[in-house]
Amino acid sequence: MTDRYAVVGNPIAHSKSPEIHAAFARETGDDISYERLLAPLDAFVATVTRFQREGGRGCNVTLPFKLEAFALAQEHSPRALLAGACNTLAWRGTHWFGDNTDGPGLVRDLDVNLGAALRGRDLLILGAGGATRGIVAPLLAAAPRSLTISNRTPGKAEELVQVFAVHGPVRALAPAALAGEHFDLVINATSSALTGTGAAAPWPDAIFAGVALAYDLMYAGEPTAFLRWARAHGALRTADGFGMLLEQAAESYLIWRGVRPDTAPVYALMRGSRRPDAHAA
Ligand code: NAP
Repeated sequence: MTDRYAVVGNPIAHSKSPEIHAAFARETGDDISYERLLAPLDAFVATVTRFQREGGRGCNVTLPFKLEAFALAQEHSPRALLAGACNTLAWRGTHWFGDNTDGPGLVRDLDVNLGAALRGRDLLILGAGGATRGIVAPLLAAAPRSLTISNRTPGKAEELVQVFAVHGPVRALAPAALAGEHFDLVINATSSALTGTGAAAPWPDAIFAGVALAYDLMYAGEPTAFLRWARAHGALRTADGFGMLLEQAAESYLIWRGVRPDTAPVYALMRGSRRPDAHAA
């Protein structure tokens, strides 16, 4: 019988997860279906519960439901507990197991696919929302020299520092306080394109001076507005979050199916080019 999986979010039409998991299933020879589930904003739990009763075995969870997925799960992985948010649910016969594969997906893309050094480096994350919650602990586990979180609303970055300070050298700096600081890696984890939209970003252009890699969690067929901004102001390499999307999906597949698909053929299939495709300035 075909095993059913889904990605749940609102909106959801744009999600590439069904194509990714279909490609993984062809690779592994598994008989699965994977669909998009649009959950009404006030009915995440009802949507996931109905899906499970109809045979659903696992879900990916995306905006804006990652905190609700955490609350729904009755068993959590250590990394989901750290993040306080889940992007992966697996039905364990009587209850949902919740995990968070965003952070491991990002670190694997940076480390394995892009060869970006993290150990001993100075990292900057722009944004302090759900995605940042998921990536801070896995980045700190890679032993950077420092990890700075800077958010348009500074108090939210300070809250995250309170949560994660026990895991490594993390600090919060308001956007204006970044002038004069140097970073090796700058990650856009905001939900904004940042520049290119007509609205000015709150961060100074100088954050990109001498940056080895600027990484955008957003992805698009073309370099994103953030990556164009980074390149124009000194970033030596840029990469978007499509690699992270594939790696977090492969990690979810591993949780559900016990096998981790190779992401390289799927990257080539969906992007029409081989990895790494980090753009040199
Ligand atoms: P979120 O929880 O809604 O957080 C949004 C963040 O963006 C907040 O820090 C917010 O700042 C900031 N922000 C929004 N508009 C801004 C603007 N105009 N200028 C400056 N900052 C702005 O969203 P999220 O779940 O963290 O997701 C963030 C992004 O990561 C999304 O684009 C998502 O698609 C992407 N993502 C990608 C992957 C992947 O696999 N590639 C995985 C997960 C997430 P305030 O606190 O001041 O409002």
